[in-house]
Formats: sequence, C-alpha cells, structure tokens
Amino acid sequence: MPDTLIKIDLSQSPYENEMIHNRWHPDIPIAAWVDPGDDFVVETYDWTGGQIKNDDDAADVRDVDLTQVHFLSGPIGVKGAEPGDLLVVDILDIGAFDTCLWGFNGFFSKQNGGGFLTDHFPEAQKSIWDIEGMFTKSRHVPGVRYAGLIHPGLIGCLPSKEMLSTWNEREKALFDTDPDRVPALATLPYGETAHMGKLTGDAKAAAAAEGARTVPPREHGGNCDIKDLSRGSKIYFPVYVDGGGLSMGDLHFSQGDGEITFCGAIEMAGWVHLKVSLLKGGMAKYGVKNPIFRPSPITPKYDDYLIFEGISVDEQGKQHYLDVHIAYRQACLNAIEYLKKFGYTGAQAYAILGTAPVQGHISGVVDIPNACATLWLPTDIFEFDVMPGSDGPTKYLDGSIDVPLAPDL
Ligand code: ZN
Repeated sequence: MPDTLIKIDLSQSPYENEMIHNRWHPDIPIAAWVDPGDDFVVETYDWTGGQIKNDDDAADVRDVDLTQVHFLSGPIGVKGAEPGDLLVVDILDIGAFDTCLWGFNGFFSKQNGGGFLTDHFPEAQKSIWDIEGMFTKSRHVPGVRYAGLIHPGLIGCLPSKEMLSTWNEREKALFDTDPDRVPALATLPYGETAHMGKLTGDAKAAAAAEGARTVPPREHGGNCDIKDLSRGSKIYFPVYVDGGGLSMGDLHFSQGDGEITFCGAIEMAGWVHLKVSLLKGGMAKYGVKNPIFRPSPITPKYDDYLIFEGISVDEQGKQHYLDVHIAYRQACLNAIEYLKKFGYTGAQAYAILGTAPVQGHISGVVDIPNACATLWLPTDIFEFDVMPGSDGPTKYLDGSIDVPLAPDL
C-alpha cells in the first residue's frame, strides 16, 4: 500500500486530531502537502465522529450533536495548485477498516435534523448494516443483500474568502425568511463546536465564527452525496486557494439516489486511496463552475428494476407547479407502500430506499403542471420475488423484526 498521509484513531476524539476539521474556511492550515502525480491513503472518521454505535437502540441518533458534523480529513495541499486550476482526483480505491466492518443508517427525529420524509417518519430510528467483503446486509432489515458502491459522500476544496462570504450571505438570507422553522432552512456558522484543524487561539475563534457548515453541497463540491462517485472515478475540482486544500469524509458503503434518509446512507469510517494531478487554468478552459467527474468502470450489475412514478401533487392532493422535490417524494412514498405489502414496516422500506443502489431520475420537467420523478428499485437485491403477479404479494416478513425506534424523551 502507498503511504498513509492522514491517520486516524477510532478510539480518539476527532477533536484531538489536527488533520481533521468540521467547517470550511480558507484559514484552516494545510494538514499535509503532496506533489502532483502522488498517490496516498487518507483515513476518515464516519461523518458523526463516532457518535453512533453498533447496537439496537436509536437513542444515539435521536440525541446526535449535528453542530459537530461532518468530520473531514484534510485539507491536503497540492504543490503548484492555484485559483482557477482544476484539481484532478482519481479515487483509486476505498474501503472499511478491518476492525470496523459495519455501518449505520438512520432517520433523525423531526426536532433534530429531520429528513426527506420527516413528516411521515418523525422519530429517530436506526439500522445497522454488516459489511461482508463487497456485500452488506442488516439484522434490522431482512430479505435484502446487495453489493456496495462505496464512495465519499463529501469531498471538495477549500473556498476563497470571497466565496465563503457569498455562501454565508445567501444562506443567512434564506434562513431569515423563516428563522423559527423546524428543521431549520439552513445551517449557519456556529463557532462553539468548530474544529479548525491546526488553528488555535484568536485565529481559530475568528475563523470558527464564520466557517461554513459542511451540510450543503456547494460550488466546490462538498456534501454532494453522489453514489456514483465511487472507487475508479475521476473528479475535476475547481481550485479557489493556493494548494487547493482538498478534504473528504462521510464515507458511504452504499446509498440510494437522494440519500433520502439523511442519517444517511450506510455510514462508515474507512480509508480512501487517491491520486492527484493538476489541469492548469482548467476552470476557464472548460467553463467549469461546479465539479465534473467520470464514474467508475466497475459498478454493481443491477440492471432489472421496478420503477415507481411520482408527480408533483402532494399527499393532501394539492397541485404544485413542476416541483421535482414533491414528485420524488411521491415516488418514494409509492415504493414504500408497495414494499409494505411484502411484510416490511414503513421504516424498513424507507431504510432500503436510503441505502440500496436505487436510482432516482428526473423524468419530465416540462409537462405543466406536473413534474414526473421516478424511483428505480433494483429487483435483484431482494431474496424473494418482488414483482407484481396474479397470486398477489407473498408475505416474506411477519413483522417480528423492525428498525429500532428511539424512546420519546
Ligand atoms: Zn453520509
């Protein structure tokens, strides 16, 4: 194996590791420098820094401190990188640690984080997924087993001062339109739990007070949660500061398009083997504003799907105008209702949609007034026949197992 550039210790708090940070700010010092052409390994915590345990109780998901996330490894400086360049990142391989072959999926409580279907699943729940080589299965969600499409949910370069100001201004303006909303409209800077890598003292406090939270994807990439950004893919990142400042974390063993469960995919700690190079002046040469990438030549072979349609009419029957968010929600709800007929609880079905390699497509956005979104459910992940037939659905599960629910406080 190549050199490990950033090492972590899962028994140690990420706050004690100077090569970890949990905000975006140009003043976060580069943790390690590499040359263009180098390849190296970066270890990462799971996105919560170890707050979620491998057990049958969702109290940890209910009580998670979301101001601490995401714990990222970096920033890595690439010698010679300047604003306007493209930083080319080859993800050569990704894996879990031999000592930690499991991941978690959960739904946050509506009061603490929420999620895509939070009005339907307002309470904290979690499922644990065991990693068996390239496959995963869960003691909380029987009847499914599938190959992982491992990827970093979050990867990107440091913003410039100007870009950071733009982010903070526009997100604050949105937040201010409904400041009391639960869940909040945006996550604003919060210095108290900020970890700014090697920064200390007054410099740390000043940067922490304005450091952008890591939750949304932005122009630099960041928390894009793209399941196809897996091992073997090649990504072109816009560079905004000298050295680029590449950071990553939030590894997922597998995820469905949309990461609809929000906590999140199958979340895990692990390592990424990378190679970096530069395309000088690449942003202007190719008109690149947001990252572009080429996917892996190797993906799990699921080519048979049962596809659920959704349109932009909400649960109350209200018509919305070409709203893709509502259309995708309806496609997901339709898939959940279908899977319940085979004995799954709603929570188990929701967990499958959040973790399995389901595809989400924007199928139509012009046929007024309805957008059409589709959810593609791979049929081969099931250990039983999930297709409709004249005999009706076989009850595969008897309801004796469910995704653990956190007790109310
Ligand atoms: Zn994640």
